[in-house]
Amino acid sequence: MRIQNYSKALQNPVFKIIAEAATELDLECYVIGGYVRDFLLERGQAKDIDIVAVGSGILLAQKVASKMEGKPQVSIFKNFGTAMIKSGDVEVEFVGARKESYDRDSRKPMVENGTLEDDQKRRDFTINALALSLNTSNYGDLLDPFDGLGDLERKLIRTPLAPGVTYSDDPLRMMRAIRFATQLGFTIQLRSLQAITEHKARIKIISSERIVDELHKILASKKPSTGFALLHKTELLPYILPELVALQGIEEIEGQRHKDNFWHTLEVVDNIAQTTDNLWLRWAALLHDIGKAPTKKFHKKIGWTFHGHEFVGSKMVYKLFKRLRMPLNDKMKFVQKMVLMSSRPIVLSEDSTTDSAVRRLVFDAGDHVDDLMTLCEADITTKNPKKQRRYKNNFQLVRQKITEVEERDQIRNFQPPISGADIMKAFQIEPSKKIGIIKEAIKEAILEGEIPNEYAAARKYMIEKGSELGLQLKKK
Ligand code: ATP
Ligand code: MG
Repeated sequence: MRIQNYSKALQNPVFKIIAEAATELDLECYVIGGYVRDFLLERGQAKDIDIVAVGSGILLAQKVASKMEGKPQVSIFKNFGTAMIKSGDVEVEFVGARKESYDRDSRKPMVENGTLEDDQKRRDFTINALALSLNTSNYGDLLDPFDGLGDLERKLIRTPLAPGVTYSDDPLRMMRAIRFATQLGFTIQLRSLQAITEHKARIKIISSERIVDELHKILASKKPSTGFALLHKTELLPYILPELVALQGIEEIEGQRHKDNFWHTLEVVDNIAQTTDNLWLRWAALLHDIGKAPTKKFHKKIGWTFHGHEFVGSKMVYKLFKRLRMPLNDKMKFVQKMVLMSSRPIVLSEDSTTDSAVRRLVFDAGDHVDDLMTLCEADITTKNPKKQRRYKNNFQLVRQKITEVEERDQIRNFQPPISGADIMKAFQIEPSKKIGIIKEAIKEAILEGEIPNEYAAARKYMIEKGSELGLQLKKK
């Protein structure tokens, strides 16, 4: 074990306070895990700091808080034997060093007090087991029994114990391995990768919430395809997102082939990751084609079709969110809407676009029209540079038209200039079907460009439509 000193990682004044508190309590303590890893990777100084104490983490936390300015509150999680202090934007978590042994059916280990090294062994990866000493005798020394430092240099995800044991003990680690590989651009050691495949079915004991947390982190990374390709390769994906697995493969009938929509989807997600940080738009990219598996058909004359896949896909989004216990709120509705509308701008860009088609797009997409365009642009995965350029230009033109139409017609958050109440008052009628018909006709006329989006024109149009329905304007 090489000993190197990294007191530079410990510039935050909180570390000195922790060290003093530990000396007073006569216990050893260390900074461990993500904070140390991210410092060594020069990913900036992380905001959450994990401290392991050889002794009571809770007592140490209380002592630390009593020495800190403003005496921050200590949140104690008795069941886990942990305590947390929040100070400014830094969160420090304290835990006593422990030795763990696992039961087959749960992630909950049997816990005993242990040494630093016992605690390092229970960590998921060598790069997450790195510890920096906060003890007077060796302040700032790196304690690295499993050569995590070497793995940082080799860019390798490796478990401290035999991989089968680490993953089987806590299958969430399989997701974490893939997530770290994606976030950090690391490789998972081959033996580890094989162990994940071997223990893939154990993922069933992990709650959806934890799995979704990792999926979010994969999607939020620079190149999310790395993670989804690994989930696919390790055969975890069928347990998590079977809808995506169903997109994989190319079928050929009578010499006609369709593209592999799984690998296409991953390209789309990587593309969109370069243009937006909006997590939910990234989800939309991931799910935009899921309706293609159930709608796929072969026709002798026209070849492969996926009719209505956008509608079917948007329904599948709801089921998928529900199954994964994701929020069924406006975020879900946004993803549904993006999936439902995902082909609309494409049609526009192919035809010589009419103003009314653009107005309809803006009307239907509302505030999300820019996101929709971003999705469609990411959807261009052709390897033919000429086509690539042509499609991009076409979408550029659609964007331009959107701006023009918006400036002129204010369609985005369209409120018809004539309301149902206006119609009832004008014709002196009670609520009835006719009101709906007239309202719809006015909206259509505006979207079609037959009349401008203005009160006077809409009122004139209302009188015409009313008389077609046998209604007369009543004078006051
Ligand atoms: P990040 O905060 O960027 O997600 P992290 O490595 O800090 O990464 P946390 O979930 O904050 O991850 O966990 C802190 C530390 O706790 C890890 O570095 C690791 O040592 C340990 N750890 C977390 N989850 C597990 C687990 N499931 N199995 C073993 N060790 C774990
Ligand atoms: Mg962390």
